[in-house]
Amino acid sequence: LTTFTDEARIALDTLSGRATGLFSPSLRLGVTGLSRAGKTVFITAFVHNLIHGGRLPLFEAQKSGRIARAFLEEQPDDAVPRFQYEDHVAALVDQRIWPDSTRAISELRLTIEFESASGWNRMFSAGKLSIDLVDYPGEWLLDLPLLGKSYDDFSREALELARLPVRADLSEAWRELAATVKPEADADEMTARKLAETFSAYLKACKDDERALSTLPPGRFLMPGDLEGSPALTFAPLPGLGQRARPGSLHAMMERRYEAYKTHVVKPFFREHIARLDRQIVLIDAMQALNAGPGAIADLERAVTEILACFRPGRGNLLTDLFSRRIDRILVAATKADHLHHESHDRLQSIVRRLTDRAVARANLSGAEVDVLALAAVRATREGTVKQGRDTLPVIIGTPIDGEAIGKERFDGNSETAIFPGDLPEKADVVFQDFGTNHRQDANDPTIRFVRFRPPRLERTTEGVTLSLPHIRLDRALQFLIGDHLA
Ligand code: GDP
Repeated sequence: LTTFTDEARIALDTLSGRATGLFSPSLRLGVTGLSRAGKTVFITAFVHNLIHGGRLPLFEAQKSGRIARAFLEEQPDDAVPRFQYEDHVAALVDQRIWPDSTRAISELRLTIEFESASGWNRMFSAGKLSIDLVDYPGEWLLDLPLLGKSYDDFSREALELARLPVRADLSEAWRELAATVKPEADADEMTARKLAETFSAYLKACKDDERALSTLPPGRFLMPGDLEGSPALTFAPLPGLGQRARPGSLHAMMERRYEAYKTHVVKPFFREHIARLDRQIVLIDAMQALNAGPGAIADLERAVTEILACFRPGRGNLLTDLFSRRIDRILVAATKADHLHHESHDRLQSIVRRLTDRAVARANLSGAEVDVLALAAVRATREGTVKQGRDTLPVIIGTPIDGEAIGKERFDGNSETAIFPGDLPEKADVVFQDFGTNHRQDANDPTIRFVRFRPPRLERTTEGVTLSLPHIRLDRALQFLIGDHLA
């Protein structure tokens, strides 16, 4: 019965959301991606460029001068933290440091007043659109498959994955500890806590490992949000389950907490946030993966497949069906393209397209229109050339972050430097070769020289107005994500 009322309520919420949408047009845009993919920087640049009338030649409404103004308004959901836009702008623009990354869900409402392109629409519509930007960790999205899994299935699968050769060393401490406990023994808080701690240390180690292993659920173990230390997060898979849990046993305790995690964490998150999204951008850090080699690219593809699968309708779950039917456009974007010379931007985009096409096919995604893009939400570099003997090499110029180094050269965070970033291969296929291994090929080495730069210095006009943040192809993202709503 609970499930039914739950789902009936979502249906009502979704419908009433749509109905009210008629009176005050709004668009809920989800921004996700695994940690450090660039969500915070993307939202900040998105809003900053709209508010400050940035250079957006491929964003039609702006280019044709139909945007009267864009401004922040109070968000509709009082219980969701606000995206700290002002703090992030201050960090980027005034201090020239990258803002604090996404740790939990947050929201920001940007309202655009515009003149409709068609005379007909001009007569009937107020020319106002509110965009609710919803920033949330991709790690949380990957919890969706847990809804269809019992605790025993979850335990079995987690152990199977942990024993795989790529993970065996990282999971050893947890597996050893888990092997010493008896699921049928009496429940004990300290045992539960120790197991949860070592299990979550293992998940974090996978994340931090240079093999860039794909993210495993539960997502809150990696990004706890405000749930750190709560019983719903104090569980772990157990080995050797087979019988039904005896009441009062460790098995029963873990099972109850796992179910609590699903009921009190995963379901409300999908119901209250994800089910109401209209559009979605999935940011990926393709640069880091390219830098780490084909094994990491394969892994990134797995992660994108898992994320896109969450948006597939018809999983037989009313909760997920509702939101996945509602989402009509998904953009998969590799940000940080400013680490490459513009000659490689299209190549980066082809790599992302290849990866996304395969992920869409594997995830069996249908219904939503999917597009891909290589962009830099904030462009930290400019381009130039350097003469080397008879050759002229294309370079990128920026201020490397204090402590960054190339070979023996260390940077202090104050001086500009020119870097030859390397080329991406002409054919996207090359970076997908040697799946599963981490060795790099000498010929067609896809490795790029990757140095983190400080955010760019912004010019101020004589009136003291700060110009908008520079970017690469952010306008294309805007056109795909919101352009049609401003027609
Ligand atoms: P989040 O965890 O998804 O919120 O990731 P952030 O938006 O905080 O980005 C993580 C880091 O990636 C930042 O601190 C920057 O170092 C880098 N980054 C993100 N976007 C860009 C970009 O457009 N250009 C450059 N050069 N670096 C970026």
